[in-house]
Amino acid sequence: MSNSRVYNFAAGPSVLPLSVLERAGAEITNYRGSGMSVMEMSHRSKVFMDIFQETQDKLRRLMNIPEDYRILFLQTGASGQFSAIPLNLISKTGKADYAVTGNFSNLAYKEATKYGTISLACDTGDRNHCCIPRQGELKLDPEASYFYYCANNTIYGTEWDYVPETGSVPLVCDMSSDILSMPVDVSKFGLIYAGAQKNMAPAGLTVVIIKEDLAGHELPYTPLMMNYQTMIDKDSMYNTPPCWCIYMLGLTLDWVAENGGLEGMEQRKRQRADMLYQVLDSSRLFTCHADKGSRSGMNVTFRTGDEALDAKFVKEAAAAGFVNLKGHRKTGGMRASIYNAMPVEGVEKLCSFIQNFDKSN
Ligand SMILES: *Cc1c(COP(=O)(O)O)cnc(C)c1O
Repeated sequence: MSNSRVYNFAAGPSVLPLSVLERAGAEITNYRGSGMSVMEMSHRSKVFMDIFQETQDKLRRLMNIPEDYRILFLQTGASGQFSAIPLNLISKTGKADYAVTGNFSNLAYKEATKYGTISLACDTGDRNHCCIPRQGELKLDPEASYFYYCANNTIYGTEWDYVPETGSVPLVCDMSSDILSMPVDVSKFGLIYAGAQKNMAPAGLTVVIIKEDLAGHELPYTPLMMNYQTMIDKDSMYNTPPCWCIYMLGLTLDWVAENGGLEGMEQRKRQRADMLYQVLDSSRLFTCHADKGSRSGMNVTFRTGDEALDAKFVKEAAAAGFVNLKGHRKTGGMRASIYNAMPVEGVEKLCSFIQNFDKSN
């Protein structure tokens, strides 16, 4: 089975660790003597409640999440949080600051304008989001209810290499595409969220880590399913949670712990990304979309400048077993998503392929 797998550079849903898939496969019809699949269990059964609690505990341990933060396992995708965040957090002053550095932060910004007065802390759109602003370039309103940013811009291939300083204004961060790729100091944040399908689990689960005292101030018309306080009170079980995804997240968290934890993930992240950027920078044909100093360790965007040659690259790469390298239409060219589960060896082989393509074209 394993030797017929390709190197999958998809941006999301994306590659999962092989051992996680194999373990899920081995347990798929009979989860540890229960006589049934995790997909078939009552979410209120003891066996599932144990999975649920252990998954929360593992995430808390791995990310070192302080006790005054709650972990929520929600649905409606990362995009659901574009609405949930202002609905729950903007009532403090009616204002919020948004840093727009890519597609998803722009969508979050537009959604938030329905619910309050939103200021742009920065907008890199005029440079097609090839860069991340420095701290001194951010326009900060000390009266903002929160400051919103997206840590890693999945489409453009840029990543914040620092956590913005916002004084007493709570930080809200979309970590969908770089959560678990390095240690973060959770205590600096008011809220962290991530769709699971990039670095954690299959699509269908959104993890929210929220400082508990930020909840409970939602706008009166906040939909029930988007109310953080309701989900805190019911421990994410107001309704049926995404059981299978939560189980899969638990397996991925075991894999992260067995592979050096978040320090181990960061070390391999740097290894993969440094190798790939180095090969691209020393090539004749390829240029990277992102500025040096703003480059993502998770999504590497590059192009030849010639659309036909880009298409040839994507096609020949796929034939050689490197799939899903076509870039997003907003950037064109190519994108190699090199999440946690991408083996270093996959990137080494991709680098050789790039070098050969560079020589022969
Ligand atoms: C993929 C992605 C999203 C959107 O996720 P959905 O679960 O499809 O809503 C939002 N933000 C970032 C950074 C992403 O990478």
